[in-house]
Amino acid sequence: VATRTIAAVGEFAFLARILPQLTNGPDTIIGPGHDCAVIRCGDGRYLFTIDALVEGTHFRRQWLSPRQLGRKSFLVNASDAAAMGGRPRFCVVGMSAPPTYPARDLANIEVGIAAAATECGADVVGGNLARARQLSITIALVAEAPRRTVSRAGAQPGDRVYVTGTLGDAGAGVRVLRAGRRRRSLAADAHAVRRFREPTPRLRAGQLLVASGIVSAMIDVSDGLIQDLGHVCSASNVGAVIHATNLPVSAAYRTIMRTDPRLALSGGEDYELLCTVPERNVTQLERQRAHLGCPLTWIGAITRGRRIKVVDAAGRPMSIEAGGYDHFRGSR
Ligand SMILES: [Mg+2]
Repeated sequence: VATRTIAAVGEFAFLARILPQLTNGPDTIIGPGHDCAVIRCGDGRYLFTIDALVEGTHFRRQWLSPRQLGRKSFLVNASDAAAMGGRPRFCVVGMSAPPTYPARDLANIEVGIAAAATECGADVVGGNLARARQLSITIALVAEAPRRTVSRAGAQPGDRVYVTGTLGDAGAGVRVLRAGRRRRSLAADAHAVRRFREPTPRLRAGQLLVASGIVSAMIDVSDGLIQDLGHVCSASNVGAVIHATNLPVSAAYRTIMRTDPRLALSGGEDYELLCTVPERNVTQLERQRAHLGCPLTWIGAITRGRRIKVVDAAGRPMSIEAGGYDHFRGSR
């Protein structure tokens, strides 16, 4: 075992082994294993999270302009704050670049980070720059925590499963970028690529859904619906059934993928929110719907047991590829 590589162990198995060994004090309200930690500091409660975009793993340099890359590296962090109903406030930025990387491009990454942070209400308050073989941007974000704590762990059998926005666009965008410029529907391609380049963290929806006490569990969909739903199910010790025909997909997705639901189920980087809502809160949810700032679609239900099933229009189980993204088992 001692000689096994991290790839052989796998990202999630590795985390499952390491995280229980951390010991935290009483001011760590929620520790590792969620979209953000919840911490108490003096009189305040904050969300705390970190995320990295690494060349070759998350992007190829020609897929995003430096400014878009900077924006995206902030926005994926903001999405983790959204998943717990937080308001982004402060971030620090760690950048690594090869010595040959153009200084102007690095400056534009910083411009993109600062612009996205400002849009989301946060200040960039520090950082670090190091030499490395690949370009990478790591951002740690502090967000104001809501009074209520909603994590991945509160889903109960019978709860409805909802998702914001549309699913699979970013995955379709990556497919378009990989294929290069020789495809038919330019408008659909452009939409999908834009969704890959410019995620829209659902901050307003996240804040409202948590503050109003409507949701029992929430996560942002960064690694694909099935995988992230899997995190909710294992943290909550429940299963789920998803109705494939209810998955919200864009017109662009349908143009690119036709009726194939695979990228909606397991394409990553959508940065939508997946939440569970107890039946008793559905009326309140309908009252708030117009204020969420994005569509919210009912896609299934939480069940007993630990299995996730996807069913077709006739209720027949569909086979789902394990799908989702494990960092040590794939690359861009
Ligand atoms: Mg997340």
